[in-house]
This record gives sequence, structure tokens and C-alpha cells, in this order.
Amino acid sequence: RTGGAQDRFEAKATCCYCGVGCGIIVQSDGAKVTGVRGDPDHPANFGRLCTKGSTLHLSAEAGLQQQARALFPALRSARNAPLERASWDDTLDLIAKKFADTIRLHGPDSVGFYVSGQLLTEDYYVFNKLAKGLIGTNNIDTNSRLCMSSAVAGYKQTLGADAPPACYEDIDHAELIFIVGSNTAYAHPILYRRIEDARKNNPNLKVVVVDPRRTDTAREADLFLAILPGSDVALFNGMLHICLWEDLIDSAYIEAHTEGFAELKQTVREYTPKYVADICGISEADLIQAARWFGQAKSALSLYCQGLNQSSSGTAKNAALINLHLATHQIGKPGAGPFSLTGQPNAMGGREVGGMANLLSAHRDLANPEHRAEVAALWGVDQVPSTSGKTAVELFDAVRAGDIKILWIACTNPAQSMPDQRLVREALKKAELVIVQEAYQTTATVAYADVLLPATSWSEKEGTVTNSERRITRIQAALPKPGATRHDWEIVCDFARKLEARLGKEHSLFPYRSSEAIWNEHRESTRGRDLDITGLSFAILEQQGPQQWPFPTGASSGKQRLYEDGIFPTASGRARFVNTVYRPVAEPVDARYPFHLNTGRLRDQWHGMSRTGTVAQLFAHAPEPAVVLSSTDMTRRLLKNGDLVHVTSRRGSQILPALSGDDMRAGQAFVAMHWGEEYVSGRGHDGHGSYGVNALTLPVFDPSSKQPELKHAAVKILKAELP
Ligand code: SF4
Repeated sequence: RTGGAQDRFEAKATCCYCGVGCGIIVQSDGAKVTGVRGDPDHPANFGRLCTKGSTLHLSAEAGLQQQARALFPALRSARNAPLERASWDDTLDLIAKKFADTIRLHGPDSVGFYVSGQLLTEDYYVFNKLAKGLIGTNNIDTNSRLCMSSAVAGYKQTLGADAPPACYEDIDHAELIFIVGSNTAYAHPILYRRIEDARKNNPNLKVVVVDPRRTDTAREADLFLAILPGSDVALFNGMLHICLWEDLIDSAYIEAHTEGFAELKQTVREYTPKYVADICGISEADLIQAARWFGQAKSALSLYCQGLNQSSSGTAKNAALINLHLATHQIGKPGAGPFSLTGQPNAMGGREVGGMANLLSAHRDLANPEHRAEVAALWGVDQVPSTSGKTAVELFDAVRAGDIKILWIACTNPAQSMPDQRLVREALKKAELVIVQEAYQTTATVAYADVLLPATSWSEKEGTVTNSERRITRIQAALPKPGATRHDWEIVCDFARKLEARLGKEHSLFPYRSSEAIWNEHRESTRGRDLDITGLSFAILEQQGPQQWPFPTGASSGKQRLYEDGIFPTASGRARFVNTVYRPVAEPVDARYPFHLNTGRLRDQWHGMSRTGTVAQLFAHAPEPAVVLSSTDMTRRLLKNGDLVHVTSRRGSQILPALSGDDMRAGQAFVAMHWGEEYVSGRGHDGHGSYGVNALTLPVFDPSSKQPELKHAAVKILKAELP
């Protein structure tokens, strides 16, 4: 804390919404947050905040006033009974006993954890250690699986490590900014303002936007490619075809620094402009223009997000775009690179500590025996289990099948955010024990909790987070913990010590008394790895401000940009071209379900709205949920703005007001992801509940990344008959 007047404190932190990771200064009177402003010294935002960030203080107060916060541990005596307040000791004893008994009877894989990119790095680290180190199960996955796992797989397959090679400053150096599957103006607003500034400062800068919808980001583009949903791989392969044809590739770079190009070259021969234009639903001229600008630019920077990731071909989409960067040498130099934008505030930190079913600490792989041995040695355990853990969709499937009996959910709301809600809610009902660790008691998932563990929230937590450009920020707490809440890492460690006692362990793996002690252990795990941060400390982060990784021992600063030397963290030191082939969406439209349903974010709301939904002014931009249709479809179906329609997929149905949007192509529909059952009427095909847009989405996922195809489902739309 930096002191102010006696009743006024200021703490430095980051905004807890998107992965831009804007620095903020939180003002408080010691008991409540009184204001928030952008941190002028933070390199992510230099003092700027968007509507969500600038109203954070309102959400903090509203959460308490509206009794939305979970403040005390609570237990349910029976499934339909109300949650009743309990002591921490009784609650943790009860769940430790249930864990120990279940593990004895059914083995360690009978329990599972589903955590979140909202957690701080230290929280994530101890959750991972609890599951993989103490209990001996890899059944721990995260809502980042719904968000970033295709980007992780894409980077690893091509560049050899899960490390975005570019940085925000590259926006200022780019000659071409290629935005794909990202409504940056809404989802990463402060980054978008930087793009607007770059355009003012550099009249030669071109912006190309690729998106099925004409979003606010697309409206401002020099070239907008309104591709059909799911056709991205064809587009990138087609652009590479044109670059090859027009000699816009960098053969010397390919020869010196990459491998696998010959095979890909054969594949992209098929992707002629006509073939690709037909698949993508765009003109050949626009395709050729995009390829020429990309290949001819001195520096081309791609910014991409869920449009690539939330797809049954998410890994191929990421890899095909990175192929294009490698072939044209648009990587490892200022203003260039494939730059995946993280959705959540600490999705990157979770990846660093290996907080996913297939990962281990410091970018190690569970499938690699040496990596498992290294982590086991670091943690002081005999072994890390080799059995694959269940990823998000698989985890809930395993609960539904009765294989996982205890599910611990932390800081996320799968009863709204997971695809095909009917299946997810069946799983939550089937589990023998559902533990929900949450700051808010209002989420749809809490309704399924047998045990509620109240956690601290934004402005009360301290530790670290990492943003999209690999920049670690030290978060300071502005307020004391409210009620009986505990920090997420404390809850994990308190539980772990009770479980260790029941399992007869003599030495605790969880001796931590501070977030710094946890972070120091995480730091040690990175030694010699691509994300080495052994040169950093909490003191450096506090004194010198946020730093990018890698930052190894002896370094005086982190690395802004990766691979400038053309050496990649693969066995050969060369980047790898992946032979990417276009595959259509998993559920194509047909005569019965003729609309492509797209889901995404609104400008002023965040995820399931547990925080932004408490702030009245954030509803001014979009006051209620709606399905947006093209004016052509509105006319064809004799619909006026506000008419209620049934939006129905093979999995469920929702009743929503229809809105005409000039951003839509005919045959496409858009519904925002934020609104849950309290706002939307309708029901799943089980006849229960009304789950928001994920009543409609399908649980099909990418075979490599296991990320679900939340961006596409086939639906029909019929006018609702009023009684
Ligand atoms: Fe918060 Fe993202 Fe807005 Fe920055 S851009 S203030 S991190 S929501």
C-alpha cells in the first residue's frame, strides 16, 4: 500500500476482467473501495481504462450491498435444503473426510477439480499441486479450456512452446494488423484504443479484420473479410497459396529456421483463390488483397482470440495462421508475430503453472516422463501420475457417468458457461459431492453446491497475474477480507493439510504462510525453462513494476519479443510448419436448423455477469439479452425489433427478443454469452431450467486442444406465439 490521508489508501493491482491486464490504482477508506483509476505507469494501459475497468469500484460495493457476496462457509443438509452457515473447521473437516474415504474406496481419479482463469497464479499453483502432487490425480482442468487451449496447442505444435512471441508495443510498429476472430473493440477495448492511436500516428498502417460479423472492430477496418463460420483454415491456407504464387514468402528464412514446409506447400496447392473464396464466402479480390498486404508488409501482426480458439478445428486454425507468419517471416521482429489475446485476466498465469489436465508446472507436459519426474522432485513426491486427466467437457462427462464422485469448482460458473447445459447440470446433480469455492453466492453453479467455500475477490486479494503479453503484475490488496472469506490459496492449503492428516502424511506439501512463498516455489520450477523467471522477485515487481517473462537470473529486464534470433524451443531449434487442412464446423446447418448461431461478448458485460451485473450503468449499452439477425432474415420472417422468437438447437431452446443488426449476414444469428437463466426464459430438452445461450451450444471439441466449439451451433428461429 502507498499511504494517503489517514482514511485513504491506495493499492496497485490489475483490472480483473480481460487479459489486457490494465494496471489500476484502487482507492479505499480502509473498509470499502472508494474509487479506481488507471495506473499511469502500467505498460498495458498507461492510465486508461474501459467502461468495465472504470466501474470496478461500483461492482465491489454493489456485490456487498446486494448480498451477492458469499461471506461464510455453508453446507446443505440435503440436495434441496438451503445452504446453512457453518464453521471453516467443520466444513473443511467434512470435505477432507469425504475426500479421504472416496479416494480409499475408488482411487484418486474419483475426484476432480474445475478451476478458473480468474484465480491468481499462486491460487492456481496450489490447486495443481493438491490434485497432481498430493491426491495423485490429473483430473484438474479450468475454464481456460473454453478460452485458450487451442492457442496453447497451436503455439506448441508450431513454435515449440506456449509463449506469445509479440507484445503490445508491436501494435505501434506494425504495418499491417490482421485481426481474426476477435471483436477487439469490445473484448479488449484498451488494446483497441492503442490500435486507433497507431492508425493516427501511421497513415500507412492497414487493418484487416476477419470475422463472420461486421463488428465495431470490423467497421473500422481497411479490409473486412466476412468469412463463413469455421472457414479460417481455408482462408489462411489460401493466403499462403497466394503468397507462394506471388513470391511473397521468405525462402531464406524458411530454409534456415523452419521444418516441414515441403508437405504444407503440397497441401496449399489445392487452396486456389476460387476454391477458398467459395468456402469462405468472400470475393477472390478481397482474399488476394489480404494475402498481398500480409506478404508485402514489412511487419504484420496478427491479433486473435475466441473466433479461432472456440472451434472443433481450433488448433488447426491457430497453426494455419502461424504457418503464414513463418512462411512470410512475420515473426521475431518489431511489429510482427502471431499474438493470441487471452480472454481472462490470468489465463496466462494458469498456463505457466500447468493448471490444466494435460500440463505441468512451467510449461512441462504431463505426457513427458522426464517432465513428470522433474515436477515430482520439485514437489518432493514419489511421482506425478501419468494417466491423462479429464479436460473440461470430459470432466463433466465423467461426473455424469459416476466415475468422478467429488467435484470441486473454483471461481467459475460451469452451470452457465459450459456447452450443452443439460449434460452439465445432469453431472452436477449426479455428483456425490459438489464443492463450490466462490466470491459470489448468486451464480447458477452455487445452486448445485453441497458445500460453499467463500473466497476473497478483486480488491481483497494479493499475489500475481500475467497478461496476454507475458507481463507479470504484482497485485496488492486494498481491503481486508470481508466476513469469514479466505484467499483461494489459503482455502486450498487449509484443506490440503487436513487431508494430509487423514491420509497419514507426516510432512506437509503445503507449508506456505504467504502468497510470496508459493510464488517463490513456482519461480524455482521455471529455472532453465522457456518462461524462466528466476531473476524476478516480489520485491522487483513492486519496485520496478510489471515485468515480462522470460526474466532469468542475471537479466535486467524481461524479453519484449521472442524468437528474434530465429531459434525456437523445439528439439531441432527450428519452428515447425503444421500441415493444416480445412474441416467444416461440427454441426453444419441444414433444412431443419438453417441458422449459424454465433456466441460472444458484449462491450460492457463480463462472462456470467456476477460482477458487472451488479452495476446498473453497465446495462445502458445492452439492457437485455437478444438474438441478433440480419435485416434480410427479419423481413423474411416478418419480424420487428423486439418480437419474441424461439431459438432452438438439437439440445435446447430459448425465447429471446429478436433484433435487427447490420453486422449480420443472412442465415446467421448472434447471442451474447453473458445472460444466464435469471434473464432468459426457455428450457433444455430435459424440460428443466432456462440456461442462457449454452442451452443451445454443443459439447464437440477440438481433438488436440479439447476446446469446445462454443462459436457455432445450428439453430432454427421461429416467432413465439403469444397466448
Ligand atoms: Fe479491464 Fe480489459 Fe477494460 Fe483493461 S481493457 S480496463 S483489463 S476490461
